[in-house]
Amino acid sequence: MMQVVISCMDYRLTQEVINKSKKDSLIIRNAGANIFEIKDILKKLNPEEVVYLPHTDCAAMKLTYSVIKNHEGVTQLINDKLISIFKDKNFSTLKELEEINAKVNEDLLKEILPKAKITTELVDVNKIKWPERKARVYVLKSNTKYDEEMIGSYIIQSPEFEVILADLEIANKLGLRIEKNEFDTKF
Ligand SMILES: [Zn+2]
Repeated sequence: MMQVVISCMDYRLTQEVINKSKKDSLIIRNAGANIFEIKDILKKLNPEEVVYLPHTDCAAMKLTYSVIKNHEGVTQLINDKLISIFKDKNFSTLKELEEINAKVNEDLLKEILPKAKITTELVDVNKIKWPERKARVYVLKSNTKYDEEMIGSYIIQSPEFEVILADLEIANKLGLRIEKNEFDTKF
């Protein structure tokens, strides 16, 4: 039985992702735990079980908030893959936006994987233990497990490289440095 665990690239969530994963789970992590960006891959994988872990105090949601409410500029790719999802949504606080993010992505999961068991948890980052933050990104394949070195780092993780291009742009915008890229692709 295939289990997919989906979360954000945020360094604080790594232990939580490990805790919620089975030994052979596939892990997908991008900016904001964004299902829209990976929906074609999920259809292809067709997992029986999905553990969906968006979180509070999310930098991708802060960026979205800032673009929509304060007209901060972002690239077309970030706009298409992240911001556009929330353009017609009604929210006034970051907390509301984070709740909308969890809800719209969970609804989308149910729509594209109608037979899968889907468990959603909006992880409260104030209730988990944070590792020491390292301002770097590991770009990993979905079946890669983490070593000690990666724990405090941002982790972008996907079965295919093409779908995480917007996340690399977001990581770049957040001032993070690429430490390792398992896809061996130039970007
Ligand atoms: Zn996040």
